[in-house]
Amino acid sequence: MPIHRDDVDVAPEVAGSRSALIVPCNMCPAVTVAAKKNQPFIRFFRSLLKSVPFEQHIKALQSRLKEEGVRTSVFRSDLPHHWFMCMWTAGRRKKLQSEAKQHDSVIVLGCDSATETVRDAVRSTDCKVIQGMEVAGVMNARLAFDFPGNLSFRSCKTVPLSLRMTEDGTSH
Ligand code: SF4
Repeated sequence: MPIHRDDVDVAPEVAGSRSALIVPCNMCPAVTVAAKKNQPFIRFFRSLLKSVPFEQHIKALQSRLKEEGVRTSVFRSDLPHHWFMCMWTAGRRKKLQSEAKQHDSVIVLGCDSATETVRDAVRSTDCKVIQGMEVAGVMNARLAFDFPGNLSFRSCKTVPLSLRMTEDGTSH
């Protein structure tokens, strides 16, 4: 089940960088953004391998950073087996290392595990790693398929990660 995440204002962290590489995890963050916008996660017949709400979210981030004088590009992971940054192959990490060398900062749109993947990949570079989202909890939602091929998440709730039920039924 996707981990729900909230945006972090990266502008203060990225200040001083001339260029930043945005590295989005295409799974949980994309699901979260689509659910927040109340839009389909994927429209199979219009954009099979891209989540349009998340693409718009990334473009908006790029525009905001451009206003701050930071040039950005996006490290694309369009193939489904590249969507989960927590499970990237060695080859994928090496590719990121190579692209990151051309930037001052790397902005991760993903969870702590995604950030760990990036830290691991760019360890040998001078890139500053910035986490652009923070974990808010685990999403509880109803998966829905709508004609003519939309995949959506409905009735979304965020369950705190620390929620534990005691034997008397209370949580702490
Ligand atoms: S790296 Fe984090 S955000 Fe991305 S799929 Fe794995 S758990 Fe979800």
